[in-house]
Order: sequence, then C-alpha cells, then structure tokens
Amino acid sequence: MVFENIYCLRCNKCCRDTEMILLLSDIDRITDKGFRDFYELKNGFYVLSNINGKCVFLDPTGRCIIYEDRPLGCRVYPLILDEDNGAMLDKYCPLSDFFVTLKHDLRRGCELLVQFMDELSRDYGYSVDINKLKATCEKLINK
Ligand code: SF4
Repeated sequence: MVFENIYCLRCNKCCRDTEMILLLSDIDRITDKGFRDFYELKNGFYVLSNINGKCVFLDPTGRCIIYEDRPLGCRVYPLILDEDNGAMLDKYCPLSDFFVTLKHDLRRGCELLVQFMDELSRDYGYSVDINKLKATCEKLINK
C-alpha cells in the first residue's frame, strides 16, 4: 500500500486469490532478486500466481516476503482504477474509508496510479483516458 504500512491491519484480504497485474518492470525487479515462477498469463496480462488461494509471496505468518520490491499495483492498493468510475479506494479493504482522509498519501497514490497506467499502456497496449483518471483522482482527494 502507498499508505503508511503501520495502518495496514494485515488482514491479507488483498493477498487472497490475487489477480494483481504485473508490469514488466515488476517482473524484472523481482526476477533480479532471484525469484522465479511467480506469475502466469491471464486474459493477456501477467498476474501474480497464488498457492492454495494466497499470493505466492505471502509467508505462513501473513508477511509479504518481497515487501520492499512488491509490484507497483500492490504499492498503490487499495487505490484502484474502476473502469466506470475512475480512481477509487477499494471497498474490499476494510481501511478504505479511513484512507480517504489521508490526503497526502492519497495524492502520492494517485501519482503512482498514473505511473501504473502509463506503464500498463506501454507493456500491454491497454490504455485509459489519463485526463479522466487525473480528474477522478482530484475528486477523491478533495472529497
Ligand atoms: S485489505 Fe487493506 S488492511 Fe487488509 S492487508 Fe490489504 S491493505 Fe492491509
């Protein structure tokens, strides 16, 4: 998460049955750390693999073993891009209502979300309207 790690409840909801899309830069960075076989191709995107319904990088104590090098999408979460509504905080995360009050982190998260979408377009040819994304980010920040 882009928000201070101290807030995270470690409920690991976001690490279960993950379909987190990996950018090519994520794959390179994590591969450089010596990891292999941590992703698969799904619907035209490379996504994190799961083992027994949990992210391949989640250890038995519920810790992310690549936290410092985690994918950009995980870093940005629970800020997500909803195809219809633009930038939003994922209600699946129990802290989504709290995070909307952390304006500084939200702004940083929005910058990273724009970066994520930019790289996604380069890596996969999947583009979104960046101006619309920025506008919904501003709306969220000023809520
Ligand atoms: S769902 Fe939210 S509170 Fe739970 S582990 Fe993920 S980021 Fe933390």
